[in-house]
Amino acid sequence: MSANAKHATPVQKLLLDPGFDGEVMTKEPMARHTSYRIGGPAAYLVRADSPSAVRQVMDACAEEGIPWTVVGRGTNLLVSDAGYPGVVLVLGRDFKQIGCSPERGRIVAGGAALLSSVVQLAMREGLTGLEFAVGTPGTIGGAVRMNAGTRDVGMGTVVDSVVLIDPGEGIHRVSASDIRWDYRSTSIPDDAVIAECEISMEESDLILIRGRMEANMARRKKSQPLGLPSCGSVFKNPEGASAAKMIDEAGLKGRRVGGACVSEVHANFIVNTGGATAEDVRQLMDIVGSEVEKAYGIKLQPEVRFLGF
Ligand SMILES: Cc1cc2nc3c(=O)[nH]c(=O)nc-3n(C[C@H](O)[C@H](O)[C@H](O)COP(=O)(O)OP(=O)(O)OC[C@H]3O[C@@H](n4cnc5c(N)ncnc54)[C@H](O)[C@@H]3O)c2cc1C
Repeated sequence: MSANAKHATPVQKLLLDPGFDGEVMTKEPMARHTSYRIGGPAAYLVRADSPSAVRQVMDACAEEGIPWTVVGRGTNLLVSDAGYPGVVLVLGRDFKQIGCSPERGRIVAGGAALLSSVVQLAMREGLTGLEFAVGTPGTIGGAVRMNAGTRDVGMGTVVDSVVLIDPGEGIHRVSASDIRWDYRSTSIPDDAVIAECEISMEESDLILIRGRMEANMARRKKSQPLGLPSCGSVFKNPEGASAAKMIDEAGLKGRRVGGACVSEVHANFIVNTGGATAEDVRQLMDIVGSEVEKAYGIKLQPEVRFLGF
């Protein structure tokens, strides 16, 4: 460790520690880590390659008294233009593994594994239950945390258990039945890192599985503006209603603030048409929210997660 380490803060010490199993970046633009291509700098972006490195980061943040948050592929995130004044933790090496467990019908995937890779493996293994997730970007950790899915089905329908790392209990396994799986949210605590997930599925015919996946993908390509940066659906669907339909009927398709625009293809997508700021997206969300409330008396709730606001 260099002489500077004497005066370094606990998080800076990780940066200077050659034995740290990961990488520490300072003032890392979050626009590089979000599907929106929007977001100011994180004070630190730390990639932790092993569970012990995750614990080290948590301990360093607690000692220094700075906030931390874990991020997957940033496909459901709006990061403020000012950035995040703490540690953004991303999971590396040990959390990217995907494999079939010896028990038929089970897949074990690390928190940083891509959901799309797990969906493909399930198909190749002739396992049904994840067809709904085809085309959903992001990691297993993000998908589990968000209970990602459609209006009717989410990750909670296939997850058997998750391994969490949290500052209090350390590494521990939680059964899916002990987690509340709500529409685009779960009861997994905010300070828990999803390190691994075990998925359990039924066997089925590969041709049928592939057919359902192709149909879902075709529907997605037709109805979503996949060529422009976005975070997917911006608002949750209110009970018994469609946010996209309400936004469309309120005449908001094409409404713009700066580089942010309500998509002409899917009204619940706000796309970055080039150079949009987080403030542009936020202001446009406010306009859409108040116009829909005026027209329907319903307050739309955001599905996108905010960071640094
Ligand atoms: C084109 C497009 C289409 C989309 N379609 C869908 C869809 O059909 N259905 C759907 O539900 N969503 C959809 N999304 C939104 C998004 O892809 C999902 O929510 C996805 O599961 C987020 O994964 P992520 O790794 O990018 O998570 P991030 O966006 O990085 O994070 C999302 C949340 O999860 C938390 N998180 C991430 N990783 C972990 C971890 N390892 N442990 C604990 N918490 C963690 C973060 O702190 C944050 O609160 C879409 C997005 C886009 C851009």
